[in-house]
Amino acid sequence: MTNLTHLTIDAARAGLKKKEFSAVELTQAHLSAMEKGRKLNAYIVETPELALQQAKQSDAKYAAGSPGPLEGIPLGIKDLFCTKGVQTTAASKILEGFIPPYESTVTAQLFRDGAVMLGKTNLDEFAMGSSNTTSAFGNVINPWKRKGDKTDLVPGGSSGGSVAAVAGRIAMGATATDTGGSIRQPAAFTGIAGIKPTYGRCSRWGIVAFASSLDQAGPVARTVKDCAHLLKSMCGHDPKDSTSANMPVPDFVGALKPDVKGLKIGIPKEYRMDGMPAEIEKLWQQGIDWLKAAGAETVEVSLPHTKYALPTYYIIAPAEASSNLARYDGVRYGLRVPDDNLIAQYEKTRAAGFGAEVRRRILVGTYVLSSGYYDAYYIKAQKLRRLIVQDFLSAYEKVDALLTPTAPSAAFAIGENEDDPIKMYLNDVFTVTANIAGLPGLSVPVGLDAQGLPLGLQVLGKAWDEQTVLNIGAALEEAAGFKAMPEGL
Ligand code: GLN
Repeated sequence: MTNLTHLTIDAARAGLKKKEFSAVELTQAHLSAMEKGRKLNAYIVETPELALQQAKQSDAKYAAGSPGPLEGIPLGIKDLFCTKGVQTTAASKILEGFIPPYESTVTAQLFRDGAVMLGKTNLDEFAMGSSNTTSAFGNVINPWKRKGDKTDLVPGGSSGGSVAAVAGRIAMGATATDTGGSIRQPAAFTGIAGIKPTYGRCSRWGIVAFASSLDQAGPVARTVKDCAHLLKSMCGHDPKDSTSANMPVPDFVGALKPDVKGLKIGIPKEYRMDGMPAEIEKLWQQGIDWLKAAGAETVEVSLPHTKYALPTYYIIAPAEASSNLARYDGVRYGLRVPDDNLIAQYEKTRAAGFGAEVRRRILVGTYVLSSGYYDAYYIKAQKLRRLIVQDFLSAYEKVDALLTPTAPSAAFAIGENEDDPIKMYLNDVFTVTANIAGLPGLSVPVGLDAQGLPLGLQVLGKAWDEQTVLNIGAALEEAAGFKAMPEGL
């Protein structure tokens, strides 16, 4: 039998339908891979019993001729999604032992459609990070290594466990979330695809909040089509989330075609950053050439406020985080460090429960929201947010989508960039703008650098136009023919 863990979701669905293998066999294959892949530390909690039970139900559905669209597909679930009866930690000590009594809307929809949960994947604490090194449950190791070099590399962040599981063939796909790039940058670092849909497409209900006006769920998977399969299930209006949009969800898979003929693709000139590695510049040009050869027209566009995107993000995101994380007081959830004095109990619990990066963000956020600095920082950031949105709206009067690199580097070594938080924040330079403007963005793997590490290109689209983004991604995927895999798989 073919190696089941190497199939795409699309191929696995076909195989399951034809009864070439069962959902239990498919799940078993992933559970064995999970055991062998433990050194990656991709999962915080493994749920093999639940997975097998779900897979059995899936086999019954196939036997009855009524399988759901994702029936029997084994997935990793980022440990930021509340899963009923299964520990959900946001990779923070403060939530260790928290067992949600409810299911997030996104995971509920995936299970409704037949998906199987292999376990809860590791992430940066509260999804704050670009390297998965801030997790209270240890860093995740990227399945990729530099050629001839055994150094462990980061998988990117914050969805590091999700992407390591998918690239390492211990999940066919995974859920992820993206507040400033946490779907796209880790997807690029591990040679897989990932899409952050338009803000409001996926319900945030039951997802541990980081920065509510930026957070959006989305899938990571090994192909653009697999992302389309997962996205279709994850999206949809949810009255329980007031920012969830009441918009029909298109048939992303049925309408997927790697066709860019007649499309106008903008190349934002401000994304040509000083100091960007020549290889990334070259790959970007290659992407432009591929799209032209496939019949698209590429035009240079300007997004003049791009240089303010990172500072704007690193004011708005911590501000919202400081407010969202105020609820972790040792009374209602997870960890409690008891003290007779209630204020002391709050302080001790929060000091013991939050890691350094989370504390840094709470401090920055509280500062920029404080009465003396609110106008100088927070209000100014909101004004810049508007200008950045306006940049995109003006560009989209001329073009259908934009093409940029996903990240300014390939995966780096664990421990690198840790000395200076600003260096780490620079990872997000090409991705935060889409969150600030609420727009869809996809990363697609297109090549390897000289050290043999994957690089991705990013397609940004108009609000609610994930389909064009996916189609351009599929065209790039086809042109690039990216088939490389981490060594040893
Ligand atoms: N790296 C960014 C941050 O640390 C983005 C994180 C995310 O998208 N969740 O804030």
